Amino acid sequence: MKGRVAFVTGASQGIGRECALSLARAGARVVVGARSAEKLSELVSDIQSAGGEALAVALDVTSAESVKNAFAEAEKAFGPVEILVNNAGITKDGLSMRMSPEAWSEVLDTNLTGAFRCIQAVMRGMMKQRWGRIINISSVVGLSGNPGQANYVSSKAGLIGLTKSLSQELGSRNITVNAVAPGFIETAMTQALTEDARAAITSKIPLGKIGAPSDIAHAVCFLAADEAGYITGHTLSVNGGMYA
Ligand code: NDP
Repeated sequence: MKGRVAFVTGASQGIGRECALSLARAGARVVVGARSAEKLSELVSDIQSAGGEALAVALDVTSAESVKNAFAEAEKAFGPVEILVNNAGITKDGLSMRMSPEAWSEVLDTNLTGAFRCIQAVMRGMMKQRWGRIINISSVVGLSGNPGQANYVSSKAGLIGLTKSLSQELGSRNITVNAVAPGFIETAMTQALTEDARAAITSKIPLGKIGAPSDIAHAVCFLAADEAGYITGHTLSVNGGMYA
């Protein structure tokens, strides 16, 4: 993917950061977006000192204005975005009985609507170029369901539906749209787990361990590559076998 322009949302830490590093290593020019400017500039330095090309842009996926500005800045610097990785995501867990309307809408607005805003920002350019890769980071719970995460699960299942619909809308323009559904991955999102919860989860994973951000980044790079050009509308599980 030498010289291709990639945009990774939620790249300031965890899975997004690793995806940006891997895409840059594979030769892409990577635009990294999130709200934490300081973490993004550290990432850009890391990519540049490894010989790659990167640009940090301020991005809040819940704001249409911010999305518009971020993608305009990306295009001005590097040209039209060819690979979009919709990774920005949050959780606000709680049983449905007690879930506030804010907890519901903030999670849907970030994880699902945020991804759609970013897709709309790149669609036209990809259609013009007749080449594109859109990769949505869903979750194993978007396939299995999970008590206490009705908002998050709905957003992640929604991303799978969005992936399928868009693959059908955009296939004729040589744009592939796929999802990656991670299982439990070692990041800030899972660091809050107690030792007991961690042991209980690990016991249900056939491969016997929690995954690393690089496990997801490898899958994203595979789907972004030219060689994956006949795969679209697919959800790739990367979960150690915990849900098949
Ligand atoms: P982290 O919490 O470590 O990182 C989340 C990233 O999203 C941060 O970079 C954060 O940046 C960004 N983000 C959050 N809100 C916004 C926003 N409004 N606008 C722009 N960026 C935002 O999470 P992970 O790395 O663990 O998760 C990454 C993705 O993978 C998420 O979509 C998550 O749902 C999914 N996933 C994770 C799993 C896991 O086990 N870790 C399992 C399954 C799926 P900032 O705060 O700087 O804006």
